[in-house]
Amino acid sequence: MMIRLAFFDMDGTLCAPRFYVNGTMVVGMSDEAWISFCRANGENTYRFCKPVPAVAEYAEELHAKGASLYVLSTVQTGEEAAAKQKFTKQNFPGLFADVLTVQNDADKFAVMRQLMEEKGVRPEECELVEDTYATVLAAAVAGMRATHVSHLYCKRD
Ligand SMILES: [Mg+2]
Repeated sequence: MMIRLAFFDMDGTLCAPRFYVNGTMVVGMSDEAWISFCRANGENTYRFCKPVPAVAEYAEELHAKGASLYVLSTVQTGEEAAAKQKFTKQNFPGLFADVLTVQNDADKFAVMRQLMEEKGVRPEECELVEDTYATVLAAAVAGMRATHVSHLYCKRD
C-alpha cells in the first residue's frame, strides 16, 4: 500500500527534547514551568533540541516516494507552536508541507481525518509516526499505518 499522507509527531519523534534551565540541560519540566519557559524563549524554545536522524531519514524516504508529510504536534502555548515551526524549518527544510498543532493528543485524529477527506486519501494510505504508544494504537485501530518511533531504530524487515 502506497503511503500518500504521513504525519510525524515532534517531541520524542522528530526531536530529542533538551532545554537549558538555570545552567543545566533538562529533558522537560512541569506544565507550569513549561508555560513560562516558552514565554521567556518564544520561537527559540527548541534551540537546544536535536533532530533525530533515523526519523528524518524515514521521512525523507516517504517524501521521495511521493507522500505529503506533516508535522502533527500537541502544544500548550503559541510560543511552543512557533518554536516547533522554527525547529522544522531549520532542521528539515523542504520536507514537511506544514506544521499542524493541536491542544490534546486525541485531537490529532480529527486533523488527520480532515486532511484525508480534503485529499481523498483512505486511512490505509495514511501513516502516523509517534512515540506515544496509546496514540500509535489508536492510529492502528483507525486503519492507518501506525509506526512507533522505536521501529525506526530497528533493522528493517
Ligand atoms: Mg511525542
